[in-house]
Amino acid sequence: MRHLLTTKGLDRDTAIGILDVAEEMAEASARTVKKLPTLRGKTVVNLFFEDSTRTRISFEAAAKRLSADVINFAAKGSSVSKGESLKDTAQTLAAIGADAVVIRHPASGAPTVLARSGWIDAGIINAGDGTHEHPTQALLDAFTIRRRLHGDASRGKGLDGVTVTIVGDIVHSRVARSNVWLLTALGAVITLIAPATLLPIGVGHWPVAVGHSLDRALETNPDVVMMLRIQSERMQASFFPNAREYSRQWGLDDERMARLYPTTIVMHPGPINRGLEISSAAADSAQSTVLEQVTNGVSVRMAVLYLLLSGEREGLA
Ligand code: ASP
Repeated sequence: MRHLLTTKGLDRDTAIGILDVAEEMAEASARTVKKLPTLRGKTVVNLFFEDSTRTRISFEAAAKRLSADVINFAAKGSSVSKGESLKDTAQTLAAIGADAVVIRHPASGAPTVLARSGWIDAGIINAGDGTHEHPTQALLDAFTIRRRLHGDASRGKGLDGVTVTIVGDIVHSRVARSNVWLLTALGAVITLIAPATLLPIGVGHWPVAVGHSLDRALETNPDVVMMLRIQSERMQASFFPNAREYSRQWGLDDERMARLYPTTIVMHPGPINRGLEISSAAADSAQSTVLEQVTNGVSVRMAVLYLLLSGEREGLA
């Protein structure tokens, strides 16, 4: 694997391969001494042009557990805020000797530009670009579902026939897009539930079923309910009447939570707007995987860094 820019086009075997390596990493992380020497001497740069808590510290922890050197570069407070271009930043990172660049950027496609530019010869990992994709989030979500369903017997398995209902602000969600491509490749059956205003144009061509009623979707007892954050920072217009109206129709509140099958998994990528798209009780319940997702994120990112930076990458163009 040279870069990880998108989950679109990632085939089933490759995806299962990444999840299986992540299983190995999880096993190593459960030991008293969590650190592996695998990436000693490699430099990983976290290049964040957009705010992040979980993803940035998760990549940092992942790289450190593999003994890589980590440079955290938040674009705020750097020369980027003085107008330095992506090209100049990339060339600076190349001059420093970065082996991998983990990039988060508000513009959809920025990681792809970097990967194709020739400005830098590092492995590029997309850590969220605009409304486009967030591949490691989808991988950690798939890993989390697989583990909840199969436990220690997860290795080698896909998600065949697993029903996943993704709810909320689909139009602005890179998490939803990456999950649709990845979970479908793994065999899951996906339904998107949202008000019409929060569905993207062209969703009819996605490999999913689409509906507007959360209550009707819950009647089908899906295996997984994935709630998405309302992305107010990406909303220039008003997409629903008001917060109360939204949570009444599309929020996973206590009453809806009580109606779920006890085996249904409740997911959320974070950060959570408690009381808006999900109630506190739902987010903190035993059925919720919110914190497991964070833990698993480190194992999955270790796997991705390992696959990009270990021997396999050498010799590739
Ligand atoms: N943390 C995820 C992302 O960066 C989800 C979110 O922000 O709502 O896309």
